[in-house]
Amino acid sequence: MSQNIPEKQWAMVIEKTGGPVEYKEIPVAKPGPDEVLVNIKYSGVCHTDLHAVNGDWPIPTKLPLVGGHEGAGVVVARGELVKDVEIGDHAGIKWLNGSCLACSFCQASDEMLCPKALLSGYTVDGTFQQYAIGKAAHVARIPKDVPLDAVSPVLCAGITVYKGLKESGAVPGQTVAIVGAGGGLGSLACQYAKAMGLQVIGIDTGAEKEKMVKEELGATAFVDFATSKNVVKDVQAATADGTGPHAVLLVAVNEKPFQQAAEYVRPRGTVVAIGLPAGAFLKAPVFETVIGMKTIKGSYVGNRKDTGEALDFFRRGLIKAPFKTIGMSELQKVYDLMHEGKIAGRYVVDTSK
Ligand code: NAD
Ligand code: ZN
Ligand code: ZN
Repeated sequence: MSQNIPEKQWAMVIEKTGGPVEYKEIPVAKPGPDEVLVNIKYSGVCHTDLHAVNGDWPIPTKLPLVGGHEGAGVVVARGELVKDVEIGDHAGIKWLNGSCLACSFCQASDEMLCPKALLSGYTVDGTFQQYAIGKAAHVARIPKDVPLDAVSPVLCAGITVYKGLKESGAVPGQTVAIVGAGGGLGSLACQYAKAMGLQVIGIDTGAEKEKMVKEELGATAFVDFATSKNVVKDVQAATADGTGPHAVLLVAVNEKPFQQAAEYVRPRGTVVAIGLPAGAFLKAPVFETVIGMKTIKGSYVGNRKDTGEALDFFRRGLIKAPFKTIGMSELQKVYDLMHEGKIAGRYVVDTSK
């Protein structure tokens, strides 16, 4: 089953680790029996895409590589085994492109831990192209009344921070510190936290991000990590009783905050590591961690249920995070700004330009 699919399409491709990323015409792939082909309209640009270009992580990418894993579009073809996704449905291709659905992790709905997981824009081609393939079981079901540009960042950033907030164990009324609050994941984290009834302390730098985090995203306090003389004291001082936030979501791209969070989280509190700075280590003082009964954990994207829930928060109008749209051919500009830490919120690429 298919409709008017061209043989060739435009894509952003890297031939080797380190780049450059080139705007090229490449063939449109055909979906396998359990796959769908999605005509991607918009794709958010995640810092993970830049880590992939730079080869920051211990796992190598496929090469040549089409990056991208926040792709929202319309299903245009499906394999013969696909029964529950229709041509014309709106769908999202997210980081977890597919998993085996049979291993002990998949059985426990921890499909992101599947040893056979396929990763969009990393081990399989992603969404910086006009037609992308996803395993039907894993594509996000996007309601038709939701705009495809605004929803695209939910497909990685939204799902990931929503899952991270659940993993933190924080409950309504409590306080969460979002470290990297002005970035892509951070801006969505502020909104999900607020929608989940949490109070937010944003940590990032610069007047533009401070204004966005406090005035648009609903944080009650902001700590500028670059100008603060003592981040630990300032974060604790921003909580009602001065004992620190109940949870910390680390979505920054530098190692330093991963070595501070356990110091300022409240006793009994939880630090959730989500950002993946190259070669970084977590550090925590043993004495305060033990005496304060603190928890430090990692959180990695989300499963299919988290995906549906995160999208439903968006559909209900609870998540409004700022984004800017740019032609896909200008992806390198986005990477340059991202490298400099100059993006407040998210960039979304339009695959038609
Ligand atoms: P981004 O570049 O949009 O945002 C990062 C933010 O961190 C920026 O606003 C920057 O100013 C801020 N920052 C830098 N140093 C800081 C510090 N010392 N203290 C506080 N803030 C600081 O990046 P993004 O797209 O939001 O991604 C963030 C990280 O999350 C990346 O490493 C990415 O690979 C990772 N990630 C992880 C998962 C997961 O499942 N665990 C999923 C998606 C992304
Ligand atoms: Zn991502
Ligand atoms: Zn599996």
